[in-house]
Amino acid sequence: MTHVFARSSVAHPPVASHGEGAYLYDTNGKAYLDGSGGAAVSCLGHSDAHVRAAIHAQLDKLAFAHTGFFTSDPAENLADRLIAHAPEGLDRVYFVSGGSEAVEAALKLARQYYLEIGQPQRARIIARRQSYHGNTLGALATGGNAWRRAQFSPLLMEVSHVAPCYAYRDQGAEETTADYCDRLIAELEAEIAKHGAETILAFVAEPVVGATLGAVPPVANYFKRIREICTRHGILLILDEVMCGMGRTGTLFACTQDGVAPDIVTIAKGLGAGYQPVGAMLCTKTIHDAIANGSGFFQHGHTYIGHPVATAAAGAVLDRLINDKLVDGVTAKGDTLRSLLTEKFKDHPNVGDIRGRGLFLGLELVRDRKTKAPMDPALKIDAQIKKAAFAQGLICYPGGGTIDGKQGNHILLAPPFILTDDQAQELTDKLFRAFSDVGL
Ligand code: PMP
Repeated sequence: MTHVFARSSVAHPPVASHGEGAYLYDTNGKAYLDGSGGAAVSCLGHSDAHVRAAIHAQLDKLAFAHTGFFTSDPAENLADRLIAHAPEGLDRVYFVSGGSEAVEAALKLARQYYLEIGQPQRARIIARRQSYHGNTLGALATGGNAWRRAQFSPLLMEVSHVAPCYAYRDQGAEETTADYCDRLIAELEAEIAKHGAETILAFVAEPVVGATLGAVPPVANYFKRIREICTRHGILLILDEVMCGMGRTGTLFACTQDGVAPDIVTIAKGLGAGYQPVGAMLCTKTIHDAIANGSGFFQHGHTYIGHPVATAAAGAVLDRLINDKLVDGVTAKGDTLRSLLTEKFKDHPNVGDIRGRGLFLGLELVRDRKTKAPMDPALKIDAQIKKAAFAQGLICYPGGGTIDGKQGNHILLAPPFILTDDQAQELTDKLFRAFSDVGL
């Protein structure tokens, strides 16, 4: 008997008891290798002594001070350090409690910025199909996941959706990567022209697409072209790094690898690494100053913004990522895991693509490798694999299949940055066994 509102996909979940390094344990003593960090959250694993100590120390000092009255050392220090490592131009940090809140704040900040500078006609968001930006109404409207949106559609603002950058499925057999990129850019330009550039507020995208597509990086120059279009039309570029940020792809901010700096970036998951619920939105000085010198304040807020314990935890996470150089190891660890997966699955008839960046990897499941024909969505093969892997003591994150009928299913992997080679092998072996357990 439980009074906790259960997730529909998990009827009788085991009770999590404790965590140790890359493993979670249930109350029966069963160990689970956390191959996906939950949903790309637990980048340090589950028992990091430094983060725990920082949380205890902060709690002993100050648990909470409302930001309507105070700021706090942990929030100020964390903001300074995030800005020091952020893409050029980002200058202010707004702390929230999670990813959806970060996206919601970004959308409202963008809108208020344009009101402050006298362009009230800018109200339209352009985002991408098969995308996920969170479950609150603004973030849900922004995401292009038809299934998630469907029953709430009367409550959602109108958003334009263009194609995601998903070369495995959408680049034509005869099309060069440059031509494919041109086609995506032309679609965006057409959508802007259709509504009039002066009405567009922001373009929102994940640099490396996580939950909806399964660790899909963009093709070369895609984001540089997007940046150029946004700048030319005065459209704000909002990059959602809630899942792919905080070192997951090998650099603290994923967009660094695409050579672009957004006007606003959102982060969460890896920021608190699961030790505290915390997210953030970073914006440029231009945006901040327009508001500071205009109406004077951002008309937004939540009770727990800048929470001292949450920001102290995130500061300690950053110590581990930057000072202890865990981010520096992500690319090499990702390469190791990717080659183990490639070795094991290279001849598997139902794995069409193994892709990603750093320790953010995805396997796309297909009926036929040659034609890339997706699995029958009714099979929910990703969910079956998740279940079979879980039975064997491996956590991996399923996705896709039901979204717009435009893609296959995938398995997303996002293990902790402390992953050893032996654990990478264990992950690969258990995943392979899970495939055979479901008949693949
Ligand atoms: N943006 C992206 C890219 C995400 O992956 C997620 C969560 N999966 C969110 C936003 C929403 O974050 P949260 O669940 O913390 O609200």
